[in-house]
Amino acid sequence: MLTWFDDATALGEFAARIEPLRVAAEDRIGALEHFEGYCWVCNGIRRMLVRSGAMLGDRPSLREGLLCEGCGLSNRGRLMHGAIRDECRRLAAGPGALLLLERISPLHAVLSRDLPGLIGSEYLGDACAPGSECDVRGHGKVRNESITALSFADASFKVVAHSDVLEHVFDYRRALRECYRVLVADGSLVFTCPFFAQRHESLMRAEVLADGRIVHHETPEYHGDPLNAEGILAFWHHGWQLLDELRAAGFREARLGVTYDVYAGFVSNNYPGGGYGLMLPIVIRARK
Ligand SMILES: [Zn+2]
Repeated sequence: MLTWFDDATALGEFAARIEPLRVAAEDRIGALEHFEGYCWVCNGIRRMLVRSGAMLGDRPSLREGLLCEGCGLSNRGRLMHGAIRDECRRLAAGPGALLLLERISPLHAVLSRDLPGLIGSEYLGDACAPGSECDVRGHGKVRNESITALSFADASFKVVAHSDVLEHVFDYRRALRECYRVLVADGSLVFTCPFFAQRHESLMRAEVLADGRIVHHETPEYHGDPLNAEGILAFWHHGWQLLDELRAAGFREARLGVTYDVYAGFVSNNYPGGGYGLMLPIVIRARK
C-alpha cells in the first residue's frame, strides 16, 4: 500500500505527478458531507464522514477527516493502522510486542481488537507517576508515559508507534532516542507528525528555556488535544532533517511512506492553494 521515499526530490516528483488528480479530487471531496470508499481497516466499502471539525482556513482538513463509519478511523488513522500492521506482520509481533503512545483514541480501540495485549498510554503529566495508571474521566484507568522518559526496560517492544506527538515535544531528539532504546534489534518505530516536505531543517516555533519558560519565535500554533481543551502547543514544524535525526538516534533506516488513493480515502490534508502547508498522507518508519 505504501511507497517509501528517502529524499525530497523523489517525493516532489511523486507529488507533481498526482497534482492534477489531487486538486480535482480534493476540491470535490472537500465539498461533500460523506464520501463512499474502500476502507482498508474494515476491508469493505464504507461511508466516510468528510469533516472531523478540523479546518484549514475555510476547507475541511482531510488528513483528520474522512472518518470511516465502520471503524471510526480518519485518513491519518487508517494510514497509521496500515503501517503498524505491516511492521507487526514483518516482525511476527505477538501480545505485548506493540507500544502505542495513545490510549483514548479510535486507533487504540481498533488495534487492540487485532493485537490483544498491546500497551497503550497517554501523557498525563506530573500528577500521575510514570508507568502507573490513573483515572481519566470517561476513559477509566490510563497508563501514563512520557515519550522523553519511557518507564520500560531496553528492548521491550518490536513496534513502537505514535501519532502527531513529536511536533509537541521540544526535546524531540531525546524522544527519538527513547523510542530506539525500548525497541528490540530490527524493531520498528512508526509515526506520523505534521511533515513540511518543502523544509529540510525543522523550524523551531517555540523554545523551552533552562528555567522552564517558553519563548515563542513564531505565532503560537495550538493543535487539538483530547486531554486538554485549550489545545497543545506545536514547538516544531518538522522537515527532512527528522530522517537524519532518526539515523543519528541509532536507527539503521529511516524512510517516509506515502500512499495516494482517493477511493480508499488517502488524500492530502486539503491545504488551501497547496504549497508549504500541503501534507500528503505520510507516515514515517524507522528500523533499528
Ligand atoms: Zn473502516
